[in-house]
Amino acid sequence: MSTPPLASAPEGPRALRPLLDTVLEALDDGARARGGPLPAGGPVAVAARMRQAVGDILPDRGDPHALRTLVHAIAEGAADPAHPLCAAHLHCPPLAVATAADLAASALNPSLDSWDQGPGPSELERSVAGVLAREVYPAAPPNPDSLVTTGGTEANQLALLLAREANGGTVRLVCGANAHHSLARAAWLLGLPEPVVVRAPAGTLDPDALDEALSRLTGPLLVAATAGTTDAGLIDPLPEIAARCAAHGARLHIDAAYGGGLLFSDRYRARLTGLDAADTVTLDLHKLGWQPVAAGLLAVKDLRDLTALRHRADYLNAADDSEAGLPDLLGRSLRTTRRPDVLKLAVTLKTLGRTGLGALVDQVCARARAFAGLVDEHPGFELRARPVISTVLFRPADATDTTVAAVRRALLTDGRAVLGRARLDGRLWLKATLLNPATGPDDLAALLRLVAARRATLVEGHTPR
Ligand SMILES: *Cc1c(COP(=O)(O)O)cnc(C)c1O
Repeated sequence: MSTPPLASAPEGPRALRPLLDTVLEALDDGARARGGPLPAGGPVAVAARMRQAVGDILPDRGDPHALRTLVHAIAEGAADPAHPLCAAHLHCPPLAVATAADLAASALNPSLDSWDQGPGPSELERSVAGVLAREVYPAAPPNPDSLVTTGGTEANQLALLLAREANGGTVRLVCGANAHHSLARAAWLLGLPEPVVVRAPAGTLDPDALDEALSRLTGPLLVAATAGTTDAGLIDPLPEIAARCAAHGARLHIDAAYGGGLLFSDRYRARLTGLDAADTVTLDLHKLGWQPVAAGLLAVKDLRDLTALRHRADYLNAADDSEAGLPDLLGRSLRTTRRPDVLKLAVTLKTLGRTGLGALVDQVCARARAFAGLVDEHPGFELRARPVISTVLFRPADATDTTVAAVRRALLTDGRAVLGRARLDGRLWLKATLLNPATGPDDLAALLRLVAARRATLVEGHTPR
């Protein structure tokens, strides 16, 4: 048997071209076979069709059609974030240009754990990390920096780790009841004391309750605030929180995994006032940044915090190599082998510019306002509140929580619309997270009609699974 073609130069591009044609055709055919935002039938039916399509995954003799078969199957079985009725999660439709850049990253396969596995890519990462850190900290002396992560979860873990190390080995997390679950999990992972949870009655952290907690607690403290809650897209009162932290000598982390994208918008940037008071900020550009997963960052105000991550492994960053001028990359992550996720980020930032990205942000926020307007005017629905970013919580009027949950599941099983759920003010809401800039007014009206029609088929007390 001859060697299968390899992707990196010089024969790579020639070998890839026909394979890409196959991939693109299979993506197209698979999406057509799905025919909606989600494959219909629910988990048992979808799993059966998937197993049937995939067949034997490790046959004795290889199958030359495997690429077409599997790409078709995975496209048919996918939830399509670019479908206008797919609006459940902070799951964005990726920009084509970013996806194309990601292909180049896969073809070249650099790794960012040592300079000799990616000399140019490691320099690109340094530049992009610096540029994004300065977006968060325009005035921070001497030079803010950021670490590239797999997402908000890893960024939050690193934020807690840096806080622990800056405080001599321990820190207590104080966060709102609205904080992302990954923060408490990171505290558990890092062996920190049980987090202190401060009430967030309206979905945002209450600064007076925070002040009360900070007055009562002793020892090093890390407050974590949220700019863009996952459930409702709400932004904590950042300047008030920052002032309370300063008064009590507590360190501040802001989880802006969702809201961080507002930095690109002239219209919405002011909603993040106070962000640069934080010692660390989580960003997640696979949310309001239209990147393929993964595209997270942790922005760090004071470079000195990063010394906690310094680490030596002779084969990657021997002291004499570093002294001779080879960049030392191990201290930029807890991972070793690492994809150059910055390539797609750099391509996106440079292709769209601040104006282009800002326009996408403005567009999805406008869609959310329009959808909230439709809900508000409809006698069959209740709107929780006007959106702050691009999340709209609503529910059929006069429905029980059980019915609200059943409507969501029925839409998933139909494969016609994908909505999320959120429990707030003691009630269950349907959640529309609008991240698709191509969604139009007609799509929003169709989404609401579909929810109304599905609700009408569910009789209270006799809800199917
Ligand atoms: C999505 C989200 C996270 C987690 O990010 P991942 O990329 O899923 O790891 C953390 N915090 C907030 C507020 C989020 O919305």
